[in-house]
Amino acid sequence: MGLRDDEKLIRVALEAAAAAPVGDVPVGAAVFAADGTELARAANSREATGDPTAHAEVLALRAAARVYGDGWRLEGATLAVTLEPCTMCAGAAVLARVERIVFGAWEPKTGAVGSLWDVVRDRRLTHRPQVRGGVLAAECAGVLEEFFRAQRDPHPGL
Ligand SMILES: [Zn+2]
Repeated sequence: MGLRDDEKLIRVALEAAAAAPVGDVPVGAAVFAADGTELARAANSREATGDPTAHAEVLALRAAARVYGDGWRLEGATLAVTLEPCTMCAGAAVLARVERIVFGAWEPKTGAVGSLWDVVRDRRLTHRPQVRGGVLAAECAGVLEEFFRAQRDPHPGL
């Protein structure tokens, strides 16, 4: 898959982020089958659901496994997400056996796909997804910056 193709995947994840519940950090994820078919998309819904594990990636992986033909396995699939996954989501992607992880913005504080940890490429694992990070990174980071700016100053200009 070329960079252009990966940008298309991240665009879908950005659409998912834009549909995040009000008050939830707008991170979006989508899962695609090996042939490029979109299996599922989801937004972070931690606040809306009161569920600490309701990150976009976990919700998208769960939904994708429900529609994909091979039980819980997502072999050959690509997980696209607007922000570098945390340890939980990186672990979930490994357990789901996705083939690739493509993400947008880097997350130096909690990122587990190269920044703070590298959970998915640990040589001790038998299954190691391929990774491409930094796809449409500025755009993905901008969505988050805008959200946090609005939270700090809910009435700009007043
Ligand atoms: Zn996560």
